[in-house]
Amino acid sequence: MDEKNFEALVIGGGIAGIAVAYAFAKRKQKVLLVERNSYLASEASGNPSGMVYPFLTKKESIDSIFSLKAFDYVHSILPKLSQKISLKTGAFLLPRTSEEESRYHGAKIQYNLKEEDLVSAKDPNSGRDGFFFSKAICLSPPQLIEALRMQCGEFLSIEYDTEINKYVSPDISSIKWKDTEINFKYLIFAQANEMKSFGCLDWLPFRKVRGQIVLLPKRKALSHLSCAYLFGDYLTPDLGHGSVLGASFDEYHFDESPRESETIEFLHSARKNLPFLEETIDELLKTKESILPRVSFRSQSQDRRPSFGILPNAKLLQRIQNELPKPQQVKNIEIPRFQNTFLLGSLGSRGLTHALLAGEWIVKSIYNELSSEEESIFKEFLPERFLIRAWKQGRLFA
Ligand SMILES: Cc1cc2nc3c(=O)[nH]c(=O)nc-3n(C[C@H](O)[C@H](O)[C@H](O)COP(=O)(O)OP(=O)(O)OC[C@H]3O[C@@H](n4cnc5c(N)ncnc54)[C@H](O)[C@@H]3O)c2cc1C
Repeated sequence: MDEKNFEALVIGGGIAGIAVAYAFAKRKQKVLLVERNSYLASEASGNPSGMVYPFLTKKESIDSIFSLKAFDYVHSILPKLSQKISLKTGAFLLPRTSEEESRYHGAKIQYNLKEEDLVSAKDPNSGRDGFFFSKAICLSPPQLIEALRMQCGEFLSIEYDTEINKYVSPDISSIKWKDTEINFKYLIFAQANEMKSFGCLDWLPFRKVRGQIVLLPKRKALSHLSCAYLFGDYLTPDLGHGSVLGASFDEYHFDESPRESETIEFLHSARKNLPFLEETIDELLKTKESILPRVSFRSQSQDRRPSFGILPNAKLLQRIQNELPKPQQVKNIEIPRFQNTFLLGSLGSRGLTHALLAGEWIVKSIYNELSSEEESIFKEFLPERFLIRAWKQGRLFA
């Protein structure tokens, strides 16, 4: 039997899986990534264009602190990629409500955003008041993933069309597969909605969310857009393959075929919010010709935060739950953890913005490279937070 040795085995070939692979490869560590489909970015990470921009709250929150760091991290990586990707920077945020408007005003002060980064402005095209976010990026997620794959070079091996669920469980360091013994030190789950197919992950409070976007055909008015528009829905500039208009999300129904009614709603919403595109949209509404809808499913956690870091051993915790002190007696409990098993999931609606830093911090945590500031943020995103919260509320495994 052949033998192959890797530092890490990563399951899932979306932005989460490649983010972790890139973080290992950057440190010259060998990674094996397995993807059940025949190409990378085949699911949620496969939209033709997506927006990279931070999640901003009016008052200081750990979510925004992480999001801004993750956003800066994407900016630091893009120039390092030897395979250049097409992208456009800048997004016009058109608030729908006064609360939304005050959120951006508040965030600007709270996070000390520079005037040139987030500026109150009148959009010259729509004439509406809003905010111009100069550093927001519109890019193609599959292109980004391909560029990261290339950047990993010889340190990344990929097995496509491969599901190894039945061979994998936490804290193993070897699997026998296709006449080969594959040895690895770390196992990383990054398979988004399919977490629950692994017994050790079935307790995670993650849910599947259906999302639909449409790719609009090339039109003069759209190709003239120099930035994206965010108005509840969003419209991206044309990166060479058309503009993306989206997105609608549904937490309850998971039909895989596109819904025509949603496509029409997107077009009406764009027509209303961006009147300078009226003519183009009327024409598209009439013919509906060459509009390509795409449905995919993102994974979202109970608290809508991404989840990353070492995997707690929930089954062991369940076995010892009667021995645990009560929340009235102690402030915290130590959650048993697996030694070599990690998770990057529940990336929600900002996966492109958050995955790269989350992957980097997982690997930093493995090699003890997190600064104390990073460590204090990182711990708020550990998957074990759900178990600690449930224990505090007296509903652990209830
Ligand atoms: C419609 C829509 C629009 C969005 N727009 C934006 C946006 O503009 N900006 C933004 O930041 N985010 C956006 N998001 C969110 C973002 O796309 C996701 O958060 C992100 O792509 C999730 O990445 P992932 O790697 O976790 O999941 P995925 O991309 O779904 O990757 C998971 C991979 O794991 C593989 N897999 C599953 N099970 C197994 C198994 N057992 N073995 C091997 N492989 C397996 C799957 O085939 C898949 O390739 C959007 C999401 C949707 C749905």
